Amino acid sequence: MGNVVALCETNGATLRSNALSVISLARKAAELHGGEVILLLVGKGVSAAADDACRYAPKVVVVDNDGLENYLAETYAPILAKVAQDQGASIVCATATAIGKDVMPRTAALLDSGMASDIADIETADTFKRATLAGNAFSRVKISSDIICVTVRQSEFSPADALDSVGTKSDAEAGELNSYGAEFVKLEGGGGGDRPDLNDASIVIAGGRGMGNGDNFAILEKLADTMGAALGASRAATDAGYVPADWQIGQTGKIVAPDLYFAVAISGAIQHLAGMKNSKTIVAINKDNEAPIFQIADYGLVAKWEDTIEPLTAEIAKLKASQV
Ligand SMILES: Cc1cc2nc3c(=O)[nH]c(=O)nc-3n(C[C@H](O)[C@H](O)[C@H](O)COP(=O)(O)OP(=O)(O)OC[C@H]3O[C@@H](n4cnc5c(N)ncnc54)[C@H](O)[C@@H]3O)c2cc1C
Repeated sequence: MGNVVALCETNGATLRSNALSVISLARKAAELHGGEVILLLVGKGVSAAADDACRYAPKVVVVDNDGLENYLAETYAPILAKVAQDQGASIVCATATAIGKDVMPRTAALLDSGMASDIADIETADTFKRATLAGNAFSRVKISSDIICVTVRQSEFSPADALDSVGTKSDAEAGELNSYGAEFVKLEGGGGGDRPDLNDASIVIAGGRGMGNGDNFAILEKLADTMGAALGASRAATDAGYVPADWQIGQTGKIVAPDLYFAVAISGAIQHLAGMKNSKTIVAINKDNEAPIFQIADYGLVAKWEDTIEPLTAEIAKLKASQV
């Protein structure tokens, strides 16, 4: 039994909203383990977000180093493993984002610990619930190692609230940075521009194969920009090359649970639903009134996107302008 170290991603001076989910899990785990929650910020310039992090936990450890400007699992994992050991952790956790999914298995290997990925809950100190079969069943995983590593399915944990008291920050050394032969070459953007990240967005507009081609997604981009939304897609749309692969939502893509999810020309295959069905409000636009997406939609419009998206964008823009 020990403390819970939670890796939190940052965005300038604040925690990214996906971090609030792992903090929720960390609080529950700390109660079961009789320890305290320690938030870990790693990267270049992450000290800027320490004050924000201190609102959520009694202790924040910051590893701020110029050599950590570009994320590499090879350099981050040893830092996580060392901080976990130094802080007496029995659980090390991260949200199952691209970074969390990438770094945590390596951290588990360095700590010689068991790992449960993409968990939906912690039931006892060593037992975790995980979705399986595209979210249609749950499995229970019991891990017997002294330190346990987990990644957290963001949509299953409500964002943590700030505490009444403010925690303390301490700095930790990055140690000798070694990328074990890996080299950061360049980051190719997913084409999202200034739009919010899919994992952080409160509104997501997703398009499917029925959009017909990549150029037609421009109409969804206008809607997304009018609403301040992130863009996503079904696997059929990403596989067809309409949009970048990192837009994919679903069982083998990103798991999202925004306040508002627009599924445009998406049929609602079970593998797609696995990635978005916990969205608070779901709007579906599909020309086929028997499309399965309508079974989980809160609002459904049986129509072609060609006839609906532009007028909808214009109405929303008008509404927004009237509110300024
Ligand atoms: C192991 C495995 C993992 C998978 N993982 C994922 C995953 O992570 N994410 C995912 O999305 N899929 C995943 N899939 C694929 C999934 O099974 C479906 O094939 C895919 O989700 C279908 O995408 P779609 O709804 O865009 O396309 P389709 O099923 O072809 O549906 C297109 C829809 O567009 C509608 N439409 C067509 N034209 C228009 C128009 N002009 N206006 C309005 N509506 C229109 C049609 O009525 C139809 O409902 C996975 C499959 C497997 C086997």
